[in-house]
Amino acid sequence: MRPLKVIIAGGGLAGLALGLGLRRHGLDAEVFERTDGFGLTGSGIVLSPNGVKALDHISPALGAELRKTGRPSNPGSRALMLTSGGKQLAAQPFGDMVGNWGAPLVAIMRADLHRLLTATVTGDLPEAGAGTGRLGVHHGTAVTGVTQDASGVTVELSDGRSVTGAVLAGADGVRSVVRAVVERAERGATRPPRYSGFTSVRGSAPRPSVHPEGFISGGRGVQFFCSPVSEERLYWVATVKAPEGSWPAKTLDTARADLRELLGSWHDPVPAMIDSCDPDDFLVTDIHDRPPLRRWSAGRVVLLGDAAHPMSPMLGQGANMALEDAACLADQLAQAASLPEAFTEYERFRVTRANKYASMSRMLGRLGHLSNPLGVAFRDTMIRLMMRGNPDKANADLYAYRP
Ligand code: FAD
Repeated sequence: MRPLKVIIAGGGLAGLALGLGLRRHGLDAEVFERTDGFGLTGSGIVLSPNGVKALDHISPALGAELRKTGRPSNPGSRALMLTSGGKQLAAQPFGDMVGNWGAPLVAIMRADLHRLLTATVTGDLPEAGAGTGRLGVHHGTAVTGVTQDASGVTVELSDGRSVTGAVLAGADGVRSVVRAVVERAERGATRPPRYSGFTSVRGSAPRPSVHPEGFISGGRGVQFFCSPVSEERLYWVATVKAPEGSWPAKTLDTARADLRELLGSWHDPVPAMIDSCDPDDFLVTDIHDRPPLRRWSAGRVVLLGDAAHPMSPMLGQGANMALEDAACLADQLAQAASLPEAFTEYERFRVTRANKYASMSRMLGRLGHLSNPLGVAFRDTMIRLMMRGNPDKANADLYAYRP
């Protein structure tokens, strides 16, 4: 295949990772991101061994920096599952992630991860063999329309310009404009995002002395997760069953006070974490996913990340899958003999795997937010039974991934 110019809609994790992967292969890419810059809030994120290996593949220097800036798991870490009253349901050792799967699990603040990605794009984080492709990132420019024919794909931009390339990669998130092109080709119509039934309220706090390695606690219609991102701080996410739009409609002060009241009787250190949250790092978002697609490409247009497979955060795999997508798509665009072959191979490697974890996340979201006492008792029993198994066996499919 002759050298391609790839247009990327969306400069989030998936879009920037794809741009870096293409540059490494000597391919040119232009990223159009609708926001003016990267937000500094957004709490934290956990990259599991599969996502870390994908990032290492895209940029070894970035992978190395991720381990230094974030907090890698150690063999002594455990997945601790508690009830809202603090009773232990399960404590499953993470095991030797590096020895077993080739990479650690790393928790990091989102702002730090974005900073590292940006530094890799600009060259502030130098890397040997960064590649000869040109990578441009244009902020404050949204993709608003798409047309394609046999000779190329043209995107209309919010600033009135239009740009033509050989490929358009839609990395524009759950409300993707580009997805509509692919969805119409597959089904003749688009299906909108669907509300998961719960909202996420998140922030960061000083690392507590009680359960400093983090935990997941489940109550009636609420789940609370936290994980350390450094020796001093951790981030937390409360997912709350609620009518769509009800929490995002609150002011941040009201949302925080309401969450404090809702979780006021929960075990230590949950209430204290809400009290000590930095107001600048407090965020409320309704969680949506979309019905799965069987095809992620149409003509010269292809999808990745949340645009292809938005999933609820219950398994913590959305970003990990996005990084796997980016590594695979960059490789295929560089190696395949033709564009159809590149997209066929990309979909062969990616669609079934990502859709599987999206549907598991959806199922766990329902289970995790049961609100009647019988349902909660059933869920807690399930957790006890499921977490008795061998974690290495349970995680094999997910973590044994190789780019
Ligand atoms: P996004 O991050 O949504 O980026 C899309 C980008 O496209 C944005 O910058 C947006 O501004 C831009 N954009 C949108 N429309 C346009 C347009 N028309 N033109 C140009 N630009 C556009 N995943 C994990 O793996 N581990 C976790 O621990 C984890 N925790 C999570 C916790 C919560 C509470 C939530 C909500 C999600 C979590 N996820 C986690 C999921 C993860 O955040 C997402 O899967 C990941 O951010 C997807 O990246 P993306 O680049 O595909 O999409």
